[in-house]
Amino acid sequence: MITILLGPPGSGKGTQAEMICKNYQLTQISTGDILREKMKENTAKAEKIRRIMGTGKLFPDKLINKLVRKKIMKLFELNGEFRLLFDGYPRTIEQADFLYRKLKKIGEKIDCVLVFELADKYIVDRISARRIDRKTGKVYNLISNPPKENEDVDLYQRIDDTAEVIQNRLEIYHSQTAPLIEYYDKFQLVEHIDASLELETVQQNIYNILDRYK
Ligand code: ADP
Repeated sequence: MITILLGPPGSGKGTQAEMICKNYQLTQISTGDILREKMKENTAKAEKIRRIMGTGKLFPDKLINKLVRKKIMKLFELNGEFRLLFDGYPRTIEQADFLYRKLKKIGEKIDCVLVFELADKYIVDRISARRIDRKTGKVYNLISNPPKENEDVDLYQRIDDTAEVIQNRLEIYHSQTAPLIEYYDKFQLVEHIDASLELETVQQNIYNILDRYK
């Protein structure tokens, strides 16, 4: 089972990804998480990643495809069965073509592309309230999904979660990533998800779809 989560920043992909992976025993491949992990190191490369990430611009396709190829091949060598969830990848047509070819080579294919739909006007507010726990990497939202009172968390805000960078990321999403909806529609893989609903409702709607692919 191979699923892709596609949608604007702040539409809840990361939060849902975690729950989906647990429920269907999928391995999550989030290029944003991989980059943030690399960013933590104290190296020149980490500094370069921090600089690009801080602008909200996309990283070069070549670099991202290489990261994904490594991850896929490692999992392919480990497991006979391939159960993946992509979150934040692919983000351009070039990345989508690459993924298609890579999977085809190893006899695999994408089962389903969940398109998260959320109007731009909600996104800035949502992302501004997003916080991450330093220790676990778990994503919270101060308004819609705050940590519980007794939860021991050390929250921080992502460097690209400021109002002006969010605007940039949105523009990039519409110009470079949204065309992938039509791309995958041609393969009849697209399922639309109303991401403006409550977390649990979104989750249930996703499960209703993914149960068909188990
Ligand atoms: P969000 O979905 O909230 O925008 P991500 O964590 O997926 O956040 O990505 C954060 C940033 O990491 C992006 O703005 C971009 O700079 C970089 N990035 C992540 N995935 C990709 C990708 N597939 N291609 C290019 N850049 C990426």
